[in-house]
Amino acid sequence: MNNEESYLKIFGIDLGTTNSVMAIVEVGQPVVVSNAEGFRTTPSVVAYTKNKDALVGQVAKRQSVLNPENTFSSIKRFMGAKYSELSLEAKEVSYKVTGDDRDNIKVVCSNLDRLFSPEEISSQILRKLTNDVSLYMGQQINQAVITVPAYFNDAQRQATRDAGRIAGLEVKRIINEPTAASLAYGLEKKDDEVVLIFDLGGGTFDVSILEVGDGVFEVLSTSGDTKLGGDDFDRKIVNFILKNFKEKENIDLTGDPQALQRLTEAAEKAKIELSNLSETTISLPFITAGSDGPKHIEETLSRVKFEKLSEDLINRCRLPVESAIKDAKIDRNAINELVLVGGSTRIPAVQNLVSTIVNKDANQSVNPDEVVAIGAAVQGGVLAGEVKNILLLDVTPLSLGVETVGSLMTIMIPRNTTIPVKKSEIFSTAQDNQNSVDVEVLQGERKLSKDNKKLGNFRLEGIESASRGVPQIEVTFEIDANGILSVTGKDKKTGKQQRISIQNPSNLNKEDVEQMIKEAEESALADQQKKDKIDLKNQADLLCYQTEKQLKELDIKDTNTVTKINSLIANLRESIQNDGFDNDSIKSMMQELQQTLQTLLKDENTTPNSENEKTNKENSDDDNVIDTNFTEE
Ligand code: AMP
Repeated sequence: MNNEESYLKIFGIDLGTTNSVMAIVEVGQPVVVSNAEGFRTTPSVVAYTKNKDALVGQVAKRQSVLNPENTFSSIKRFMGAKYSELSLEAKEVSYKVTGDDRDNIKVVCSNLDRLFSPEEISSQILRKLTNDVSLYMGQQINQAVITVPAYFNDAQRQATRDAGRIAGLEVKRIINEPTAASLAYGLEKKDDEVVLIFDLGGGTFDVSILEVGDGVFEVLSTSGDTKLGGDDFDRKIVNFILKNFKEKENIDLTGDPQALQRLTEAAEKAKIELSNLSETTISLPFITAGSDGPKHIEETLSRVKFEKLSEDLINRCRLPVESAIKDAKIDRNAINELVLVGGSTRIPAVQNLVSTIVNKDANQSVNPDEVVAIGAAVQGGVLAGEVKNILLLDVTPLSLGVETVGSLMTIMIPRNTTIPVKKSEIFSTAQDNQNSVDVEVLQGERKLSKDNKKLGNFRLEGIESASRGVPQIEVTFEIDANGILSVTGKDKKTGKQQRISIQNPSNLNKEDVEQMIKEAEESALADQQKKDKIDLKNQADLLCYQTEKQLKELDIKDTNTVTKINSLIANLRESIQNDGFDNDSIKSMMQELQQTLQTLLKDENTTPNSENEKTNKENSDDDNVIDTNFTEE
């Protein structure tokens, strides 16, 4: 056994809004792992076809124009959110988004006639990545580190962890994307450096400031916007074209999912082109038909116009950078390196903005698409013991607290506190003889509790009657290394205690997750069975073809056996036409065919003066003959 094999393998996943990337540590070094199709990035897209097949990644993305309502992209933006929290814009996707009676978000899959939670859709992507990394490694890998935007709240982190569980993964750690990026960037750095990681992906935006050096990665501050990313830039272009089309043709394309899907793809392409060109054309022939015939879209878009359209989005990037610098308590000139992460940082206006704020050009040494997955793999290596001498000190991105009298939020753990962390505070009753207290757990930066995210609540009962302010209730908040919170309330007098691991009421409860794990396992089994059947059918078909070819090539005397073989081939071919065939009987038919052929070949070869024997002998005399069709002139 070599060193490599002696470590348990934990791979890293950058589960992106648009694309996902996976990496693993091999012989002490992190490497990006290509998916089964050979690509280093996998589109975070899941689709269900009319035949009820699940497609994940490139194949799902490729058919999205034809099947927009059953193609689920950008699902990450719905993770851990409540339906009532969604803005109108957020609901603008090619598929239907709805809410259930618990305000949980569900997406509608008409082809399967069922609803999916965002966690289930995400789990399909995770399952594919897990299968592909296992294939690459030649062993089953089922432990992972998954990255999330630093600015993800507790519910979003829980949802990501649940998605992993539904996919059959043991999620060993959830780490923040910019922190992961810094792990990859700073792996070889010996001197202390202050690094600002600016991460703008497809759907989320994060800024982190870290001190990196000699194996210690200390996050000083983090900030961001979980509702800002490349998708928003695409939407600006889409809306611009829709408006122009409406003005010109008096046709509103907003109700046409196929046209919208084509337009969205064209908008993204134009946006990407405008990162290198000063002008591009959006050309969509036959986008719809009017009373006077087919209609086409042909628009020229300049970079200047695009920048004007997206001015508000660019400006939204400014505040989080400034607040991260402020929270890190450093001068902007103290930043040694600016590292850009995420595809959307290729937009020149975004680069200009951040370079201007920090007064520095971006470091060009990292690949913005892969650096997060590489960092996740490094963290996986650390947890597995394969990567040594690395200490990661991350922070909690948002303040955590409880609701107190007057519906105010009282902060227990301020944002940017290093995790893991545990803090306790004593609270008391607001009224005389109050026997119970409700503890409402909140996350966010606003003063009024209603403006913050409600993470959950619990009731501490059995408090002995006393004047208000007398009972001593100790509330303890504990954040683990994944950034996930648990809260305990304890009546100091009676010792009565209540503990909750925060679960957002809008999130899946334990039973939901168990049920989804079961369903996912069943459908993975059904998919595997389907695949096995297709493989067997292909093998049988190939065997028939090769046998026929061999019969043709050889000059065979034993016509009885040939007749038998032909009839076996015919039977086998007919049997595999029926999709419900029995695998075992196909296998035994294949075996019989192979055996009959072997017997025939043996008999023919042992017949004296057989032409075959001569040919075989000649061939076997010459070790270099590799192609039996090869003839010398
Ligand atoms: P990520 O989540 O990091 O894969 O980022 C995906 C986002 O980056 C998508 O919105 C892409 O459209 C966007 N993107 C990728 N390449 C470019 C580019 N060259 N210019 C502008 N945006 C890009």
